[in-house]
Amino acid sequence: MEKYNLLKDEFSLTNEQINKFVQYASLLKEWNKKFNLTAIDNDRDIIIKHFYDSLLCTKAWTDFSGKKLIDIGTGGGFPGLPLKILNPDLDVTLCDSLFKRITFLNEVIANLELEKTTTLHGRAEDLGKDISHRENYDLVTARAVAKLPILLELCLPLIKVGGVFIALKGPEVQSELQESQYALNLLGGEVIDIKEFKLKEIDEQRTIVLFKKSFPTPSKYPRKAGIPQKRMLVEMR
Ligand code: SAM
Repeated sequence: MEKYNLLKDEFSLTNEQINKFVQYASLLKEWNKKFNLTAIDNDRDIIIKHFYDSLLCTKAWTDFSGKKLIDIGTGGGFPGLPLKILNPDLDVTLCDSLFKRITFLNEVIANLELEKTTTLHGRAEDLGKDISHRENYDLVTARAVAKLPILLELCLPLIKVGGVFIALKGPEVQSELQESQYALNLLGGEVIDIKEFKLKEIDEQRTIVLFKKSFPTPSKYPRKAGIPQKRMLVEMR
Protein backbone atom coordinates (compact mmCIF):
# COMPACT_ATOMS: atom_id res chain seq x y z
CA MET A 1 0.00 0.00 0.00
CA GLU A 2 2.90 2.37 0.72
CA LYS A 3 3.70 2.40 -2.99
CA TYR A 4 0.37 4.16 -3.50
CA ASN A 5 1.26 7.17 -1.29
CA LEU A 6 2.52 9.01 -4.34
CA LEU A 7 -0.93 8.80 -5.97
CA LYS A 8 -2.72 9.47 -2.69
CA ASP A 9 -0.78 12.66 -1.96
CA GLU A 10 -0.69 14.03 -5.48
CA PHE A 11 -4.38 13.47 -6.29
CA SER A 12 -5.91 13.57 -2.76
CA LEU A 13 -7.32 10.04 -3.02
CA THR A 14 -9.50 8.45 -0.34
CA ASN A 15 -8.72 4.98 1.07
CA GLU A 16 -11.64 3.61 -0.95
CA GLN A 17 -10.13 4.99 -4.16
CA ILE A 18 -6.70 3.58 -3.27
CA ASN A 19 -8.30 0.17 -2.71
CA LYS A 20 -9.82 0.34 -6.18
CA PHE A 21 -6.42 1.12 -7.73
CA VAL A 22 -4.89 -1.83 -5.82
CA GLN A 23 -7.62 -4.19 -7.12
CA TYR A 24 -7.21 -2.82 -10.65
CA ALA A 25 -3.42 -3.40 -10.60
CA SER A 26 -3.94 -6.92 -9.31
CA LEU A 27 -6.43 -7.78 -12.10
CA LEU A 28 -4.12 -6.21 -14.70
CA LYS A 29 -1.21 -8.43 -13.58
CA GLU A 30 -3.40 -11.54 -13.40
CA TRP A 31 -4.92 -11.05 -16.89
CA ASN A 32 -1.60 -10.03 -18.38
CA LYS A 33 -0.34 -13.59 -17.82
CA LYS A 34 -3.01 -14.88 -20.24
CA PHE A 35 -3.52 -11.95 -22.61
CA ASN A 36 -1.08 -9.35 -23.77
CA LEU A 37 -2.76 -6.29 -22.26
CA THR A 38 0.28 -4.17 -21.46
CA ALA A 39 4.07 -4.35 -21.52
CA ILE A 40 4.10 -2.62 -18.13
CA ASP A 41 3.31 -5.13 -15.41
CA ASN A 42 5.25 -4.50 -12.21
CA ASP A 43 3.59 -2.51 -9.42
CA ARG A 44 5.85 0.54 -9.54
CA ASP A 45 5.49 0.97 -13.30
CA ILE A 46 1.74 0.32 -13.21
CA ILE A 47 1.38 3.04 -10.56
CA ILE A 48 3.56 5.60 -12.34
CA LYS A 49 3.31 4.84 -16.07
CA HIS A 50 -0.37 3.87 -16.10
CA PHE A 51 -2.19 5.35 -13.07
CA TYR A 52 -0.18 8.52 -12.42
CA ASP A 53 0.23 9.21 -16.15
CA SER A 54 -3.54 8.83 -16.74
CA LEU A 55 -4.40 11.09 -13.80
CA LEU A 56 -2.13 13.83 -15.16
CA CYS A 57 -5.14 14.72 -17.34
CA THR A 58 -6.71 16.28 -14.26
CA LYS A 59 -3.80 18.71 -13.96
CA ALA A 60 -4.39 19.87 -17.53
CA TRP A 61 -8.21 19.88 -17.43
CA THR A 62 -10.21 20.09 -14.18
CA ASP A 63 -13.90 20.01 -15.18
CA PHE A 64 -14.83 16.30 -15.11
CA SER A 65 -17.74 16.43 -12.68
CA GLY A 66 -20.95 15.01 -14.19
CA LYS A 67 -19.45 15.00 -17.69
CA LYS A 68 -19.83 12.32 -20.36
CA LEU A 69 -16.43 11.01 -21.51
CA ILE A 70 -15.34 8.44 -24.10
CA ASP A 71 -11.82 6.99 -24.05
CA ILE A 72 -10.78 5.94 -27.56
CA GLY A 73 -8.34 3.00 -27.93
CA THR A 74 -8.50 2.50 -24.17
CA GLY A 75 -6.56 -0.83 -24.20
CA GLY A 76 -6.26 -1.86 -20.53
CA GLY A 77 -8.39 1.18 -19.56
CA PHE A 78 -5.98 4.12 -19.85
CA PRO A 79 -6.63 6.91 -19.15
CA GLY A 80 -10.43 6.30 -18.84
CA LEU A 81 -10.55 4.00 -15.81
CA PRO A 82 -8.17 5.93 -13.51
CA LEU A 83 -10.16 9.08 -14.38
CA LYS A 84 -13.37 7.26 -13.43
CA ILE A 85 -11.93 6.09 -10.09
CA LEU A 86 -10.85 9.66 -9.31
CA ASN A 87 -14.20 11.19 -10.42
CA PRO A 88 -17.02 8.83 -9.34
CA ASP A 89 -19.74 10.93 -10.98
CA LEU A 90 -18.07 10.89 -14.41
CA ASP A 91 -20.02 8.93 -17.06
CA VAL A 92 -17.34 6.89 -18.87
CA THR A 93 -17.39 4.84 -22.07
CA LEU A 94 -14.28 2.75 -22.78
CA CYS A 95 -13.86 1.97 -26.49
CA ASP A 96 -11.44 -0.45 -28.10
CA SER A 97 -11.35 -2.43 -31.34
CA LEU A 98 -9.87 -5.53 -29.63
CA PHE A 99 -12.46 -7.75 -27.96
CA LYS A 100 -10.14 -9.38 -25.38
CA ARG A 101 -9.40 -5.94 -23.93
CA ILE A 102 -13.14 -5.28 -23.60
CA THR A 103 -13.57 -8.60 -21.75
CA PHE A 104 -10.85 -7.56 -19.30
CA LEU A 105 -12.40 -4.12 -18.79
CA ASN A 106 -15.83 -5.64 -18.06
CA GLU A 107 -14.19 -7.77 -15.36
CA VAL A 108 -12.53 -4.70 -13.79
CA ILE A 109 -15.80 -2.71 -13.88
CA ALA A 110 -17.67 -5.56 -12.16
CA ASN A 111 -14.97 -6.16 -9.52
CA LEU A 112 -14.56 -2.47 -8.68
CA GLU A 113 -18.37 -2.00 -8.71
CA LEU A 114 -18.06 1.07 -10.94
CA GLU A 115 -21.33 2.74 -11.90
CA LYS A 116 -21.92 4.78 -15.08
CA THR A 117 -19.05 2.93 -16.80
CA THR A 118 -19.68 1.20 -20.15
CA THR A 119 -17.49 -0.66 -22.63
CA LEU A 120 -17.79 -0.50 -26.40
CA HIS A 121 -16.20 -2.97 -28.77
CA GLY A 122 -15.64 -1.15 -32.05
CA ARG A 123 -13.61 1.25 -34.09
CA ALA A 124 -13.73 4.97 -33.48
CA GLU A 125 -14.32 5.54 -37.22
CA ASP A 126 -17.60 3.56 -37.02
CA LEU A 127 -18.76 5.22 -33.78
CA GLY A 128 -18.19 8.61 -35.37
CA LYS A 129 -20.83 7.73 -38.01
CA ASP A 130 -23.32 6.32 -35.50
CA ILE A 131 -25.91 8.90 -34.39
CA SER A 132 -25.99 7.52 -30.85
CA HIS A 133 -22.29 8.44 -30.46
CA ARG A 134 -21.59 11.23 -32.94
CA GLU A 135 -21.27 14.64 -31.22
CA ASN A 136 -22.54 13.02 -28.04
CA TYR A 137 -19.65 13.46 -25.58
CA ASP A 138 -18.41 16.41 -23.49
CA LEU A 139 -14.91 14.97 -23.31
CA VAL A 140 -12.84 12.53 -25.37
CA THR A 141 -9.48 11.11 -24.27
CA ALA A 142 -6.84 9.06 -26.11
CA ARG A 143 -3.35 7.86 -25.14
CA ALA A 144 -0.89 6.05 -27.41
CA VAL A 145 -3.38 5.38 -30.21
CA ALA A 146 -2.14 7.30 -33.28
CA LYS A 147 -0.48 10.47 -34.55
CA LEU A 148 -2.46 13.65 -33.90
CA PRO A 149 -3.87 14.24 -37.44
CA ILE A 150 -5.28 10.67 -37.35
CA LEU A 151 -6.51 10.99 -33.78
CA LEU A 152 -8.34 14.21 -34.60
CA GLU A 153 -10.35 12.42 -37.29
CA LEU A 154 -11.14 9.56 -34.88
CA CYS A 155 -12.02 11.75 -31.90
CA LEU A 156 -13.40 15.17 -32.95
CA PRO A 157 -16.59 13.75 -34.60
CA LEU A 158 -17.59 12.25 -31.22
CA ILE A 159 -17.42 15.56 -29.30
CA LYS A 160 -20.27 18.02 -28.82
CA VAL A 161 -19.56 21.54 -30.03
CA GLY A 162 -17.89 23.28 -27.08
CA GLY A 163 -16.53 19.95 -25.73
CA VAL A 164 -12.87 19.07 -25.30
CA PHE A 165 -10.48 16.43 -26.65
CA ILE A 166 -7.67 15.59 -24.21
CA ALA A 167 -4.73 14.01 -26.09
CA LEU A 168 -2.01 12.37 -23.96
CA LYS A 169 1.27 12.53 -25.79
CA GLY A 170 4.99 12.01 -25.21
CA PRO A 171 7.67 14.69 -25.47
CA GLU A 172 7.75 15.11 -29.28
CA VAL A 173 4.50 16.83 -30.06
CA GLN A 174 5.48 20.00 -31.98
CA SER A 175 5.79 18.46 -35.45
CA GLU A 176 2.52 16.51 -34.99
CA LEU A 177 0.83 19.73 -33.93
CA GLN A 178 2.07 21.56 -37.01
CA GLU A 179 0.78 18.75 -39.20
CA SER A 180 -2.61 18.93 -37.41
CA GLN A 181 -3.68 22.40 -38.48
CA TYR A 182 -5.25 21.16 -41.72
CA ALA A 183 -7.32 18.50 -39.91
CA LEU A 184 -8.38 20.99 -37.24
CA ASN A 185 -9.67 23.49 -39.83
CA LEU A 186 -11.54 20.74 -41.64
CA LEU A 187 -13.02 18.88 -38.66
CA GLY A 188 -13.88 21.78 -36.33
CA GLY A 189 -11.19 21.95 -33.66
CA GLU A 190 -8.73 24.39 -32.12
CA VAL A 191 -5.83 23.99 -29.69
CA ILE A 192 -6.71 25.62 -26.37
CA ASP A 193 -3.77 24.53 -24.20
CA ILE A 194 -0.55 22.51 -24.20
CA LYS A 195 0.79 21.36 -20.83
CA GLU A 196 4.08 19.61 -20.15
CA PHE A 197 4.73 17.28 -17.22
CA LYS A 198 7.49 15.04 -15.86
CA LEU A 199 6.45 11.62 -14.60
CA LYS A 200 7.20 11.33 -10.85
CA GLU A 201 10.27 9.19 -9.99
CA ILE A 202 10.97 8.57 -13.70
CA ASP A 203 12.73 10.95 -16.02
CA GLU A 204 10.09 10.89 -18.74
CA GLN A 205 8.27 13.83 -20.21
CA ARG A 206 4.60 13.93 -21.12
CA THR A 207 2.59 16.50 -23.03
CA ILE A 208 -1.15 16.91 -22.77
CA VAL A 209 -2.80 18.81 -25.60
CA LEU A 210 -6.32 20.18 -25.17
CA PHE A 211 -8.47 20.77 -28.26
CA LYS A 212 -11.85 22.48 -28.21
CA LYS A 213 -14.56 21.48 -30.68
CA SER A 214 -15.40 24.78 -32.30
CA PHE A 215 -17.93 23.83 -35.02
CA PRO A 216 -19.80 20.67 -36.13
CA THR A 217 -17.70 18.13 -38.04
CA PRO A 218 -18.80 17.86 -41.71
CA SER A 219 -20.75 14.62 -42.27
CA LYS A 220 -18.14 13.13 -44.63
CA TYR A 221 -15.80 12.65 -41.59
CA PRO A 222 -14.66 10.31 -40.19
CA ARG A 223 -13.90 8.44 -43.40
CA LYS A 224 -14.28 4.62 -43.58
CA ALA A 225 -12.39 2.49 -41.01
CA GLY A 226 -8.70 2.33 -41.89
CA ILE A 227 -8.69 5.36 -44.22
CA PRO A 228 -7.72 7.98 -41.59
CA GLN A 229 -4.53 5.97 -40.93
CA LYS A 230 -3.80 5.30 -44.63
CA ARG A 231 -4.54 8.80 -45.87
CA MET A 232 -3.84 11.14 -42.99
CA LEU A 233 -5.57 14.53 -43.20
CA VAL A 234 -2.51 16.72 -43.80
CA GLU A 235 -1.87 19.52 -46.24
CA MET A 236 -0.40 18.35 -49.56
CA ARG A 237 2.68 20.30 -50.60
N1 SAM B 1 -4.77 3.79 -24.40
C1 SAM B 1 -4.13 2.59 -23.88
C2 SAM B 1 -2.86 2.93 -23.13
O1 SAM B 1 -2.39 4.07 -23.25
O2 SAM B 1 -2.32 2.05 -22.44
C3 SAM B 1 -3.86 1.58 -24.99
C4 SAM B 1 -2.86 2.01 -26.02
S1 SAM B 1 -2.60 0.77 -27.26
C5 SAM B 1 -0.99 1.14 -27.81
C6 SAM B 1 -3.66 1.31 -28.59
C7 SAM B 1 -5.07 0.75 -28.46
O3 SAM B 1 -5.89 1.41 -29.41
C8 SAM B 1 -5.17 -0.73 -28.74
O4 SAM B 1 -5.83 -1.36 -27.67
C9 SAM B 1 -5.97 -0.83 -30.05
O5 SAM B 1 -6.78 -1.98 -30.09
C10 SAM B 1 -6.78 0.46 -29.99
N2 SAM B 1 -7.17 1.03 -31.30
C11 SAM B 1 -6.36 1.32 -32.34
N3 SAM B 1 -7.05 1.88 -33.36
C12 SAM B 1 -8.33 1.97 -32.92
C13 SAM B 1 -9.55 2.46 -33.54
N4 SAM B 1 -9.54 2.95 -34.78
N5 SAM B 1 -10.69 2.43 -32.81
C14 SAM B 1 -10.70 1.90 -31.56
N6 SAM B 1 -9.59 1.41 -30.94
C15 SAM B 1 -8.42 1.45 -31.62
